[in-house]
Amino acid sequence: MTRCYNFCAGPAALPQAVLEQARDELLDWHGAGLSIMEMSHRSAEIVGIAERAEATLRELMGIGDEYAVLFLQGGASTQFAAVPLNLLGENGTADYVNTGQWSKKAIAEGKRFGSVNVAASSEDTNFTTIPPRDTWKLSADAAYLHYTPNETIGGVEYFWVPEATAPLVVDMSSTILSRPINVADYGVIYAGAQKNIGPAGLTLVIVRRDLLGRAVSQCPAMLNWKTAADNDSMYNTPPTYALYLAGLVFEWLKAQGGLEAIGAINRRKAEKLYAAIDNSAFYANPVEVPSRSLMNVPFTLADDSLDKVFLAEAEQAGLLNLKGHRSVGGMRASIYNAVGEDAVDALIAFMQDFEQRNG
Ligand code: PMP
Repeated sequence: MTRCYNFCAGPAALPQAVLEQARDELLDWHGAGLSIMEMSHRSAEIVGIAERAEATLRELMGIGDEYAVLFLQGGASTQFAAVPLNLLGENGTADYVNTGQWSKKAIAEGKRFGSVNVAASSEDTNFTTIPPRDTWKLSADAAYLHYTPNETIGGVEYFWVPEATAPLVVDMSSTILSRPINVADYGVIYAGAQKNIGPAGLTLVIVRRDLLGRAVSQCPAMLNWKTAADNDSMYNTPPTYALYLAGLVFEWLKAQGGLEAIGAINRRKAEKLYAAIDNSAFYANPVEVPSRSLMNVPFTLADDSLDKVFLAEAEQAGLLNLKGHRSVGGMRASIYNAVGEDAVDALIAFMQDFEQRNG
């Protein structure tokens, strides 16, 4: 068996140890005589798995009791609608910051449900920067302030938390669990699972409990966070297998030393890759240096007619999914938690060799 290095932006690489454990437990989970996939979500086994996953996540991220942890479905894209439905009220206004393609989607969805004020945008720099906080035009009475701490496509990440009076609502899909954060800074944190949490099909929402119970009356039960919280995320059938895998990923992260330890590894991986790009006249990354993502590293080749050859040769070398998003072009290396330092070293060696032969 040969496993390649996988730089996919999502669904992304999973830790090999997790996949091996899932394989070993597939047919008969802990002597139950059944697969996890075949068990009732009301069974003691699944309820136990869900409780353990939540407890491990709370420990990893330092999530206090004043927050509910919800395991939902529909991806981060469904939360783009759930956020205004749960927080905006009948005639409310919300502030949004636009730093890229995912912010734009959240804004477009928010506008279906109420008044959206785009407080700042970096569209004029082609989303290679983050507008400084002192340029943001916040509303006086916003129900919340929404932003995207890591733009997966543009590779732009906030390394600061904006000051605001309204609760911060953040789409952490591609940065969650990559380094420690202070959960108490936020009102709502949400993320699709398929980067640092587990397989696609699971969506995580961490919501401060005082923000529950504000949903408009038309809010569908399936999008209402209070309904989910009141039913321990089992109002309907949850994605049980994805939740089980997420639980294994959380245990794996704990065994790596938690978010402090993985954060240090992630910083080292990103620094190496950016240094390789910056030290070459052949590769370039357009993002302002202080806002360069630790998880998603876009880069271009000096001659884009070589893009196809680069990708084909990378694949031959066992380096998969390096094609950039269609809206940006070029390459993108996503280096989430399960993409080890060895993968980044292999990518850098390949890039240097490719440059020597084609630069
Ligand atoms: N937000 C961000 C930052 C993302 O990276 C993605 C997916 N790549 C999404 C939202 C959409 O997530 P989903 O596919 O889970 O709806």
